[in-house]
Amino acid sequence: MRRKEAIRKQQAKFIEENGVICLNNVSKSYSSGSPALNGISLKVRRGEFVFIVGDSGSGKSTLIKLLLRELVASSGQVSVMGRDMAKLRRREIPRLRRNLGVVFQDFRLLNDRNVYENVAFAQRIVEIPGREIRRNVPAILATVGLAGKYKAKTTQLSGGEQQRVALARALINNPSILLADEPTGNLDPKNSWEIMKLLEEINEAGTTVVVVTHNREIVNAMQKRVVTMKKGVIISDEEEGAYIDDED
Ligand code: ADP
Ligand code: MG
Repeated sequence: MRRKEAIRKQQAKFIEENGVICLNNVSKSYSSGSPALNGISLKVRRGEFVFIVGDSGSGKSTLIKLLLRELVASSGQVSVMGRDMAKLRRREIPRLRRNLGVVFQDFRLLNDRNVYENVAFAQRIVEIPGREIRRNVPAILATVGLAGKYKAKTTQLSGGEQQRVALARALINNPSILLADEPTGNLDPKNSWEIMKLLEEINEAGTTVVVVTHNREIVNAMQKRVVTMKKGVIISDEEEGAYIDDED
């Protein structure tokens, strides 16, 4: 127990100094072609809201996958919540993922189950008692504006509603970090704004939020930190940044 305590302290110190997400000179190559990431360094502090923008193919999703430990860096160091992803043991991956909420462009819901079940499922797999699940799921569904839609089939929902379900599922286990890879890519402008506003509220409540997006209007309006990638490198990183127009 004392050793665990020492490790926790070490991680807390690392987070304090380097952020909840820390990439140090990270490269990732797939088997063919030029590297998807080429020596990127990035720190995200606890409680930050960060947009990641850049052309298709610039390496944004690869970066997200490294944070989720779906991929391992070819070189350089990736740390999430003070843990070095290269040293993470296989059996430690579920605990890491519990600390990370994630939403995608295509929602990835279980379409044979209703709204309630989609969210409750995320609690069942981490063995939360049924009594708590029955309390937590309605609360989180209300937070994302879906109170009263418990029994709806996901296939009967609009895109905006489906993404809210995905958000509720991502948040139900109280993650430290929320990662969103083009969460508004399939939504109309009104729903896109609503989802982004929700992400902002979630951030204001304390969660670190990283959002990959192509939505120029929203990025320019929200005045958050903007990290711009191009061909596997970070070409700019600005507090209260804007979407950079590509010159070529
Ligand atoms: P983005 O999300 O910014 O569009 P990606 O991270 O998906 O970029 O892709 C970065 C580069 O890596 C692209 O050139 C893409 O073709 C390549 N790539 C992505 N995934 C794979 C894969 N599984 N196998 C081989 N190449 C890949
Ligand atoms: Mg992508």
